[in-house]
Amino acid sequence: VEAIGTPERSVVTTCAYCGVGCSFEAQMRGEELVRMVPWKDGKANRGHSCVKGRFAYGYAKHQDRILKPMIREATTEPWREVSWEEALAFTAGRIEAIRAAHGKDALGVITSSRCTNEETFLVQKLARAVFGTNNTDTCARVCHSPTGYGLKQTFGTSAGTQDFDSVEETDLALVIGANPTDGHPVFASRLRKRLRQGAGLIVIDPRRIDLLETAHRGEARHLALRPGTNVAVLTAMAHVIVTEKLYDAAFIAERCEQDAWEDYAEFVSAPDYAPEAVAELTGVSAQALREAARAYAAAPNASIYYGLGVTEHSQGSTTVIAIANLAMMTGNIGRPGVGVNPLRGQNNVQGSCDMGSFPHELPGYRHVSDPAARAVFEAAWGVTLDPEPGLRIPNMLDAAVGGRFKALYVQGEDILQSDPDTRHVAAGLAAMDCVIVHDLFLNETANYAHVFLPGSTFLEKDGTFTNAERRINRVRRVMRPRAGYADWEVTQMLANALGAGWAYTHPEEIMAEIAATTPGFAGVSYAMLDERGSVQWPCNAAAPEGSPIMHIDGFVRGRGRFIRTAYVATEERTGPRFPLLLTTGRILSQYNVGAQTRRTENVLWHGEDRLEIHPHDAETRGIKEGDWVRLASRAGETSLRATVTDRVAPGVVYTTFHHPDTQANVVTTDNSDWATNCPEYKVTAVQVGLSNGP
Ligand code: SF4
Repeated sequence: VEAIGTPERSVVTTCAYCGVGCSFEAQMRGEELVRMVPWKDGKANRGHSCVKGRFAYGYAKHQDRILKPMIREATTEPWREVSWEEALAFTAGRIEAIRAAHGKDALGVITSSRCTNEETFLVQKLARAVFGTNNTDTCARVCHSPTGYGLKQTFGTSAGTQDFDSVEETDLALVIGANPTDGHPVFASRLRKRLRQGAGLIVIDPRRIDLLETAHRGEARHLALRPGTNVAVLTAMAHVIVTEKLYDAAFIAERCEQDAWEDYAEFVSAPDYAPEAVAELTGVSAQALREAARAYAAAPNASIYYGLGVTEHSQGSTTVIAIANLAMMTGNIGRPGVGVNPLRGQNNVQGSCDMGSFPHELPGYRHVSDPAARAVFEAAWGVTLDPEPGLRIPNMLDAAVGGRFKALYVQGEDILQSDPDTRHVAAGLAAMDCVIVHDLFLNETANYAHVFLPGSTFLEKDGTFTNAERRINRVRRVMRPRAGYADWEVTQMLANALGAGWAYTHPEEIMAEIAATTPGFAGVSYAMLDERGSVQWPCNAAAPEGSPIMHIDGFVRGRGRFIRTAYVATEERTGPRFPLLLTTGRILSQYNVGAQTRRTENVLWHGEDRLEIHPHDAETRGIKEGDWVRLASRAGETSLRATVTDRVAPGVVYTTFHHPDTQANVVTTDNSDWATNCPEYKVTAVQVGLSNGP
């Protein structure tokens, strides 16, 4: 404040980091951001914040920002700064040439869960209505796509069932594959408060997370399972609930498909899923499994919160289904204090999925093969839409290596650093004739790009983000776009360079189009958001005030559907060469691959990713605290320093993936979820040994 001066104006906007979606007042002096003050009327945060939202905005003015468009004929050439007109003409020329030579399905887009709903809507519209292909995917592919699949199959829609307020009425929280203290700090504070009031806690995680250290009055259990065995643990818990008749028979009879329940109950009652049968496999004792199941079933209101430790597995979708099964069989759906709550990592994961950025779904989760759904958009956009699903991110890369996919527009996503099996991503990008990176910084993906279009930060644009509780929050422009245009304007200019004739003058008009074409958003407008602050979808004639809790009287799909959850071991196995299992996560002060937080001076920068290793495993390898170690898998290797700790169990190692020098994803494999291709980041067989450093 001393350097910039006293604020002259204040604009309410939304944090662009995690899925909690905290509201802030951006206090401004001219074009300078003086400070971010948590907004006391923000319904997701009520005046609270974490270090990232409050202090990690310096990247917006960082010298690394690229502010001029750049092009190059080949990636071996240096970049050439050009005007926006020249960049867009060059890009459109390449896209037209590729489409003429290879067809529309040689083109594709990747949207980002960092961008607004309006921007995401436009990017998938660019793919479908202008390129003519369903080759559109989102970075949610690599995080919560199994949530989309699993919850749609069981409940009928891909969304968390509760609002954050609901945690205040829970009697027991089951937290699986999530570390809210680091990943979702403001929500974690509310959960800790409830634990201090006496709510019970079950943590299912290979690592002892901070939540377990919280002083609380209720019972806390930790099921420190072996990575890759979520389905076996959850199905064993279901076995106990079914065979001991702890389920809610009235809820099941009234709310769920009876045939599916009977089939599931028979399946899960098999001796194969008895806790005693899976104890060795999972590393969790039969007694601990039985006690956890009984505690969950006995709690008057039991809730489940989960994160990427559920989804980023070869059985990610099966795990989400297993979670939904547990909630349904115990009647923990449709009222405060219960439910199934995916904690979304990025600020707009929920929104990017809602906006139709998946290759098989139009906005509002309607399949592209549905003629009625296509007709809505064909009428609105004046085009004929392709009824065949397009390519997912990994399929685009495979097709590129195979010579069938030639051009990719990537908005706000560094796929080279954040996607698994870095070498394969690089090979796919290198095989394309036109890679367009639209971003703030020259990221690692840009090494393979032919066009760089400067992006805008959340401070430089209007729009909306949708948080993990389906709350649509306004993002308000507080300063001029430094490169001249907000991201939605750049997408529109690219579409128009290809002859689209779009004429949006403000994101409010894009939201009006979303509301007109997407039933769950029919009641949403900027005027309403400005008046009420925020709203949770569905918001329409049936729910004009929005929907803090879903599935109150019935599931979106009618009756809830139980689905068998057979445990299938991951292909990633330990053995003499790779005897340890690696799993990954985040720390509070950093964010994903660190593009923003590493460029913000006033956020404590943990200078390196560290490898956590159990004292027993460290001793047998001669590793001491702080030693450099080599971490190697079948996919690749990297070097980092060791932290010797019993937070991880013997046989398990853990690291973060924030730092580009470490590039933890060089060791992760190309295994992925059977239903959605979400990468299996959380299970990699590795070897660890002393090294001399990088
Ligand atoms: Fe931003 Fe999440 Fe922190 Fe809130 S909890 S300030 S949304 S990073």
